[in-house]
Amino acid sequence: MLILDLDNTIYNTSTINRTVFSPVIEVLKKYYGNKYNETKVTEVISDFWTKPIDVVLKTHCPPKSVENTIFKCLENIRSDDLKINPYPDYAYLKGILQPKVLVTSGYESFQNAKIIALGIEKDFVDVIIDDPRASNRLFKSGIFEKIIDTYNKMPEEFWIIGDNPDSEILAGSKLGMKTIQRKTRECEVSMQADYVIESFVELERIIDKE
Ligand SMILES: [Mg+2]
Repeated sequence: MLILDLDNTIYNTSTINRTVFSPVIEVLKKYYGNKYNETKVTEVISDFWTKPIDVVLKTHCPPKSVENTIFKCLENIRSDDLKINPYPDYAYLKGILQPKVLVTSGYESFQNAKIIALGIEKDFVDVIIDDPRASNRLFKSGIFEKIIDTYNKMPEEFWIIGDNPDSEILAGSKLGMKTIQRKTRECEVSMQADYVIESFVELERIIDKE
């Protein structure tokens, strides 16, 4: 069974039509520009483009009111406006006939808009969103434990496939699941991942071998 991450694993987040984020960028510019300076604004915006939103908020600690405005801006983004596609090698992932579960971190409505825009929802037996606003947030490790229970399999019968060494790869290897890191420019190569790949073309060889 395969457990997939979404952002930068199935598609490249930097290909999202950037104009959809204009309202968020305006909010960040206004708040950090007034409170700090242009250097801080540049730093926060650069983090916004490269890091998960919950990491950005944790690093730069805006007040709840700013956080809520950002959330509302993201909630208003429609899937049609995102203009994203899966990586060209997505077909090789789809070709692996094991059941797949999608586990993604981010605001629920925004993650759902991406999934619809990519047209991939039917490729997964389950889609689980790890929303940073959830009061009883399980994080990826808690969600993986739940999946192990639900499907009543041994941890090593699961393949975790993702780009982030500190998120799904770390959580999966701690639980004894098999891990495959998809290499990206943004993330460092994981020391824990069982395999590191550059393309889904490599999956068949790895998964069939085991
Ligand atoms: Mg990712």
